[in-house]
Amino acid sequence: MISIGIESSADKLGIGIITNKGDILANVKKTYKPPHGSGIHPREAAEFHSMNIADAIGKALKEAKISSEMIDLVSFTKGPGLGPCLRVGAVAARTLSLAINKPLIAVNHPIAHVEIGRYVGNLEDPVVLYVSGGNTQIIAYSEGRYRVFGETLDIPVGNCLDVFGRNAGLSDSKHPMGRVVELEALKGKKYISIPYVIKGMDVSFSGILTHVSKLLQNGSHTIQDLSFSLQETVFAMLVEVTERALAHTKKNEVMVTGGVASNNRLKEMLECMASSHDARFKGLNADLAIDNGVMIAWLGILMFQSGIRTKIEDTLVDQHFRPEDVEVVWRESA
Ligand code: AMP
Ligand code: MG
Repeated sequence: MISIGIESSADKLGIGIITNKGDILANVKKTYKPPHGSGIHPREAAEFHSMNIADAIGKALKEAKISSEMIDLVSFTKGPGLGPCLRVGAVAARTLSLAINKPLIAVNHPIAHVEIGRYVGNLEDPVVLYVSGGNTQIIAYSEGRYRVFGETLDIPVGNCLDVFGRNAGLSDSKHPMGRVVELEALKGKKYISIPYVIKGMDVSFSGILTHVSKLLQNGSHTIQDLSFSLQETVFAMLVEVTERALAHTKKNEVMVTGGVASNNRLKEMLECMASSHDARFKGLNADLAIDNGVMIAWLGILMFQSGIRTKIEDTLVDQHFRPEDVEVVWRESA
């Protein structure tokens, strides 16, 4: 069985093709770049996706060396994400499914991150830290569903790093902003005390961002020291909540995914925490950790094979689609 996955929840347009045996045939990505110094504009990103989606699908088919008639399943991201962007993927998925007369599966984006990580990381039942430009969640499987054990109360951690970097005037056309901040942090020498905000199992970054931005403005610290201190603080918060989820669920695997999962310092801190609990730690390679179509195609296969079908009237996008809303019938209950 061959599944095509369409991912368009934020700035990245991803078309992935994978077989039910797990052979990745194509992983095409195109990224909307906002004008210099600004964040993602949802309508402009959606316009980018609609201008590029036909070409991206064609490229993926070419990369996979298949024709559209050889596709058995069309999967797409139902949510969460930016409404205008999600709608472009959903329209393309409906159109393709009708054109080739093949079933359609609407998938939850964070669960797709978890499932592709479980597959490529060869993990059974991990506690997952999902950190990206649009999401920050600590997810683990419990009693038939993926539960969110902790999450951000306001902005995602990737967004916090991105806005800090922009406020600091950093830019680099070759790397994502989080990586640029990471490189600055490596040059930092001094830890500057900044707020550490955990409420219950949830984290909050917007106050920290305001605080660090004010420190930037008053010029009393270097960008390198502030980058270092910001990273150390927000990553320690994320590791603390992940550790508590690990202790509570008594699992023995930890995984990190999403764009921020590329960060070496974050991986180092998570690995150290996991090993102190005798748990295995796995970080994913960037090609499958950042938003991609392969993870959508893969979750589509898992869902389809366990009997799930999405009716066309259930293909409306859901900007706030929660992992808990999905009954996980493709895994043995634990
Ligand atoms: P995603 O939303 O999954 O596509 O990931 C994009 C986010 O990951 C953006 O906020 C990036 O700045 C961030 N990111 C990418 N590389 C790194 C890195 N090395 N360290 C921290 N954040 C990163
Ligand atoms: Mg994502």
